[in-house]
Amino acid sequence: MATDRFQSAVFDEYLEKAGRHAAHYLRRLPDRHVGAKATREELIAALRAPLPEHGDEGGEVIDLIAGHVDRGAVACNSPRYFGFVVGGATPVALAADWLVSTWDQNAGIYAISPLVSVLEEVAAQWLLDLFDLPRDAGVGFVTGCQMANFTCLAAARHAVLRRAGWDVEADGLIGAPRIHVVASAESHITIDVALRYLGLGTRSVLRVESDGQGRMRADRLRELLATLDGPTIVCAQAGNVNTGAFDPLREIGEATRAHGAWLHVDGAFGLWARASAAHRALADGIDLADSWATDAHKWLNVPYDSGVAMVRDAEAHRTAMTSTAAYLVQTRGAERDAVDWVPEFSRRARGVPVYATLRALGSDGIQDLIARSCARATQMAEALAGEDGVRILNDVVLNQVLVRFDDDDDVTRAVIDGVQREGTCWLGGTVWQGRGAMRISVSNWATTEDDAARSVTAILKVFRGLRGR
Ligand SMILES: *Cc1c(COP(=O)(O)O)cnc(C)c1O
Repeated sequence: MATDRFQSAVFDEYLEKAGRHAAHYLRRLPDRHVGAKATREELIAALRAPLPEHGDEGGEVIDLIAGHVDRGAVACNSPRYFGFVVGGATPVALAADWLVSTWDQNAGIYAISPLVSVLEEVAAQWLLDLFDLPRDAGVGFVTGCQMANFTCLAAARHAVLRRAGWDVEADGLIGAPRIHVVASAESHITIDVALRYLGLGTRSVLRVESDGQGRMRADRLRELLATLDGPTIVCAQAGNVNTGAFDPLREIGEATRAHGAWLHVDGAFGLWARASAAHRALADGIDLADSWATDAHKWLNVPYDSGVAMVRDAEAHRTAMTSTAAYLVQTRGAERDAVDWVPEFSRRARGVPVYATLRALGSDGIQDLIARSCARATQMAEALAGEDGVRILNDVVLNQVLVRFDDDDDVTRAVIDGVQREGTCWLGGTVWQGRGAMRISVSNWATTEDDAARSVTAILKVFRGLRGR
């Protein structure tokens, strides 16, 4: 029988315990097997039990959970984790995030948390400065780029229909003027999902052909726009999830402006190129867009979950998102109510680790983080390309590398599986323009030159092992 359930005296004991588990995890992180070792069956056997009637002792519950992280979790914040596009968490971001949980603020409105509201207001301004976007844009701190795309496209839906004399917030889409949605053939799946949530569907999306690197073809976009009349939203991308390539944003921006269409840019990780002098040119013209979605849990390396929606027309953004109710104490002054800018109502103070990270790294530190990640990606691509039978499929312009082995899907798959089992690093696969490939994404603040070199050695060891058979 647990006696501690409602005693605040145990906070110290539990937090100390959690602190020890956390420190142990972080100490082992740079050297542990990157993949998970436990099977689902093993984890179920260890963790499934009838719901306790009286409850277990809380400290034991914490020990139980933490006891399975070594075998049960993939170390996706390891400096040698290169799967998907996944960042880690810098020390200051993690510490700030602990405070967020400790304070347990409902960051929906100013009235509940003046401190969080102001921290997010300042962080929003810093982000617009860093990305050099319109300083009066609306900014919302959401759970990730999926919801950032949703938020931006909700603002877009509002604005293009308002121009057509339709109030979508009041009247919905039934009977509304038709909206043309244009996206590249290579747009991220979360754009489609956002369009589904918004009642726009995916079947009618007009897909613009992309080139060999996955960049939208601006000439094809211009041809398409010339055939369209009425409310139009164009979705472009800064940073293809496979190649890291950027759509030609200046050309796209000029074409959409000339057409009077709304331009949205998905820059989940690519928008951060704006923070690096050496990579800025990739995103040239991005400021011509109307809305921008990005992630903070990827390249800024704050803990999950954290994304950012930014909209040039702040009024369209607010109108699409705001909620009001008689019991809500919303401000009418300068104070920022987060409910005006995000789909959530009650919410975590997820802008706080963003504030802490931006302040602690500074624009120099962020530039360094971006440039270093890109340098490690280039290092790995060059080292791998030196091996007979290995080909890099993309131009490595950012932090993404596509690798193919023996020009063969099965061999490539086998190398990926072998590397995941070997454990020095973790990376996944994809299909790029009909061919199987290994994906390398360098997005972690802690990845060193040595991590990149050790990972290349492990990859080549697996590949040579397969060839030797
Ligand atoms: C990761 C990613 C997304 C989705 O972001 P989440 O943070 O997972 O919601 C959208 N677009 C691109 C290009 C991405 O890389």
